[in-house]
Amino acid sequence: MRSYSLIAPAKINLYLEIIGDRPDGYHELAMVLQGIDLADRIDLNANGVDQFRLHCDHPEVPADESNLAYKAALLMAAEFPDAFEQYGGVNITIHKHIPVGAGLAGGSTNGAAVLVGLDLIWGLGLTQGELQDLAAKLGSDVPFCIAGGTAIATGRGEQLSPLPSINSLYAVLAKYRSLSVSTVWAYQTYRKQFGDSYSPVSTTGSAVGTSTTPKQRAHAGEIVAAIMHHDSSKIGKLLHNDLEKVVLPAHPQVAQLRETIQQFNPLGTMMSGSGPTVFALAESQAEAKHLQQQIQAALPDPDLQTWVTQFRAGGIQIV
Ligand code: ATP
Repeated sequence: MRSYSLIAPAKINLYLEIIGDRPDGYHELAMVLQGIDLADRIDLNANGVDQFRLHCDHPEVPADESNLAYKAALLMAAEFPDAFEQYGGVNITIHKHIPVGAGLAGGSTNGAAVLVGLDLIWGLGLTQGELQDLAAKLGSDVPFCIAGGTAIATGRGEQLSPLPSINSLYAVLAKYRSLSVSTVWAYQTYRKQFGDSYSPVSTTGSAVGTSTTPKQRAHAGEIVAAIMHHDSSKIGKLLHNDLEKVVLPAHPQVAQLRETIQQFNPLGTMMSGSGPTVFALAESQAEAKHLQQQIQAALPDPDLQTWVTQFRAGGIQIV
């Protein structure tokens, strides 16, 4: 087939712990990632020429080589030059529904969709593992976006272990439209402020025993156990994100949003990734919609956007 439409879901971080610095300059992380049904749609149409053309309906999304979907296409052309020569490029159209610069992996999931789509259009027959290896070259969150669902992510975030799906849960998302946070800024600021407390990380990337005082480690194991037992109330209580320590003080509006949501006693509430999206967990769609109404009534600001989304079991999906 010469054209495909793909669903590219967003993610939230149920858990994000920064363990230390890696020799490659990235941070060593321990995360629990969860796909949600808020998603972009990516249309790929074979164009029969030796180039890729990109169009996106969102003004803040770059339509040049810096777009992750475009980078994904160039990577595929470089890795599979024979297929590129034989079948040519594609026109990529991104229908944006995921807010930009929101901590929801909007760009990463677009890149993942292009990898999956070109594999199909060029008939390469890549395995999920092979697609994830390519995805890791594009960015730390891209491998997760291929498979989606619920997963532990370690290393830079690219080493994945799937967890049982907990897709009966709902997340209410809230984000100020005019506010976005740079992921690079968030990690660099964290390093400046908390780098002294990092655990030493070995050359293979794993944290090693230390004689210095490591920072008080939160425990990913506890939330993983709660997920294994489908214990939603515990999952809600064990949400964690180290990046809140730098993003909330820099953006008091986000801190206030989080506090307001917390007052309504959801299962749990937390900022996703590098923010500024704040999410709250709910056990049913009715509960989630009620929470959304409470948030809108408490903060009647036209700049505040909210969504009710359900946890999702799969990753990139063909329409
Ligand atoms: P993450 O959670 O993976 O750190 P994010 O959700 O915080 O990412 P994105 O929505 O991916 O942030 O956008 C971050 C920046 O990436 C944007 O400011 C934009 O300039 C750039 N970008 C490149 N490609 C895309 C794309 N396909 N969609 C959205 N943003 C993109």
